[in-house]
Amino acid sequence: MVCKITKILIAKRYFAPSAFICMVLFKKIADLQAWLNSNPQAGKQLGFIPTMGALHEGHKSLVAQAVADGVYSICSIFVNPSQFNDKADFSAYPVTPGPDLALLADAGCDVVFMPDTDEIYPEGTEQSNNFTFGYLETVLEGFHRPGHFKGVGQVVNRLLEIVQPDILYMGGKDYQQCLIVREMLEQTGKSQDVRINICPTVREADGLAMSSRNRRLTEPQRAIAGIIYQCLVSVQSKQKTARFSVLQKECTELMQAKGIEPEYIALADARNLSLLADFDHSIPMIVLIAAKIGQTRLIDNILLSQPEDI
Ligand code: AMP
Repeated sequence: MVCKITKILIAKRYFAPSAFICMVLFKKIADLQAWLNSNPQAGKQLGFIPTMGALHEGHKSLVAQAVADGVYSICSIFVNPSQFNDKADFSAYPVTPGPDLALLADAGCDVVFMPDTDEIYPEGTEQSNNFTFGYLETVLEGFHRPGHFKGVGQVVNRLLEIVQPDILYMGGKDYQQCLIVREMLEQTGKSQDVRINICPTVREADGLAMSSRNRRLTEPQRAIAGIIYQCLVSVQSKQKTARFSVLQKECTELMQAKGIEPEYIALADARNLSLLADFDHSIPMIVLIAAKIGQTRLIDNILLSQPEDI
């Protein structure tokens, strides 16, 4: 199969060995937009999957969902400096372009966009859009990672303006991020044009949510990391028989006994992340955990009931 991409000089072609699928890679906005303006999607909707690379099966599932939906899929790989409140975390963020491209080609991704920082923020991050998210950026991840969600809002808004997709595919693992992006779409008037598709969290066999950060775990750390998900499942299974504060204490003790340091184990209204002291079965609820294993900070969550509009 031959790709017609002769006019796009920066484009590179990747072929999934098994399926003869062609995937096109761009580094420059102008080239990407020239490609998209040539209507390669032939009438299909455009599905966008923003990522920071170091891709795994969780990311792949978002592309797989886009492929299953029959949309033209475009995935970005950009480690966004403005969403890292911790410089060491940014420096340590894994960068694995070769395996990432192979994974995306294998997943059936149509286009990859891998811009440099100057391309996304030509005048620096300070000059780019600065959002305020009120309560949502003061709790949970917002509280523990000050400025993080401003950076997320900034980069997703910038990428949406470049790509102009119809559907945004995001992972439920980063649930608060999904609510932040939904809020950003409202604030920028994009919510009419872009729909968010929140996809289920993909897990390892022991329940550990797949994450680019998992590769920083040592073998003994990895061996205990599944406890985070075990705690979420235990809260879920006991929600009708125990108070949340009792389960929260149980989970804290279990994690600490194994060498995991929880930052928060929280129960919240799944529509807006208002924190709850105890279960309220009349509303959709979510349990969220952030915990450190050594220097590696992991997050996970479980929905106790699905909110209607999420
Ligand atoms: P990241 O590269 O970590 O910024 O993630 C890019 C997208 O992949 C986000 O929408 C994440 O929520 C999603 N994602 C990350 N891990 C998983 C997972 N284990 N399952 C499903 N989606 C995920």
